[in-house]
Amino acid sequence: MNIHKIIIPTPYPIGDVNSFLVKGDKLSLFDVGPKTQDALDALKRGILEAGYSLEDIEQVVLTHHHPDHAGWVDAFSHADIIGHEYNDHFLRRTPEFMSYRTQFYKEQLQLQAVPEKYLEKIVESKEALRLYGSTPLTRYLQDGEEVPGHPGLKAVYTPGHAQSHFIFLDESTNEVIGGDLLLDKVAANPLVEPPTDFSTNRPKALIQQQESLKLLRELNVAKVYAGHGDEIVEVNTLVDKRLEKDQMRLNQLMKHITSSPKTVIELTMDLYPVHYKTELGLTLSKTLGYLDCLVRDGLVREEIVNGVILYNN
Ligand SMILES: [Zn+2]
Repeated sequence: MNIHKIIIPTPYPIGDVNSFLVKGDKLSLFDVGPKTQDALDALKRGILEAGYSLEDIEQVVLTHHHPDHAGWVDAFSHADIIGHEYNDHFLRRTPEFMSYRTQFYKEQLQLQAVPEKYLEKIVESKEALRLYGSTPLTRYLQDGEEVPGHPGLKAVYTPGHAQSHFIFLDESTNEVIGGDLLLDKVAANPLVEPPTDFSTNRPKALIQQQESLKLLRELNVAKVYAGHGDEIVEVNTLVDKRLEKDQMRLNQLMKHITSSPKTVIELTMDLYPVHYKTELGLTLSKTLGYLDCLVRDGLVREEIVNGVILYNN
């Protein structure tokens, strides 16, 4: 792949995000950073270093819809904007979608026995939504489809961290542009997001993420150009490390599962006694992800009583 990496600052705890400029039959930019002035400056500088200007970019391709990756779609009004269909809901943010999304999280909090006053801690505020771009996609990609202008570069649907998540596999070099599927320093969070079918069924994000990581392992790739941090070459070793860490957390959570039923918020407080106060949404997502795995493995029983999910052994 003829690829040029651009490192972009973000206001998020994760730190810098990477954008990749790829020259094929078309000139494409994979991910575009959050919608801040610093990020735009870095993007322009990076594109210039590669010998191009912003106007030369013919396509913007998104790995997923999160604002640190999809903010500056707005800077490429003449380019095609390409990605999974789900991105579009977060770029368009129609009143219908936004109220569906709020309703979805309200129902989830109820099931998890979290008081509704914490809703705004969990659902992004209007302020946070400003760092999202608002230019809709011009073209949807399907799982397995080639990126236009890049023969042999295929989109692979890899949900978990985001319901819109694609990695892009270059079949000739066996390298991938990996978004946030696998990062060198941290495990990407299995965030709870509304499903792609607009139902009330919560996607089991950690199970999806584990399946996506196993899929990556099967591809036996030589290199991952990750959404944050350095490129990864010992790919399968790192995949195994991430899966082992999950297993360790599952074992820890098992110690808190007793014969008396507990709610998701109770188990979150058990597993993250300090952290849950400052990172409620994140710790709930993680606990819920581990619970989904334990239920899948038949180690924990789950039942809904009076609109609340309870877990016991
Ligand atoms: Zn990210």
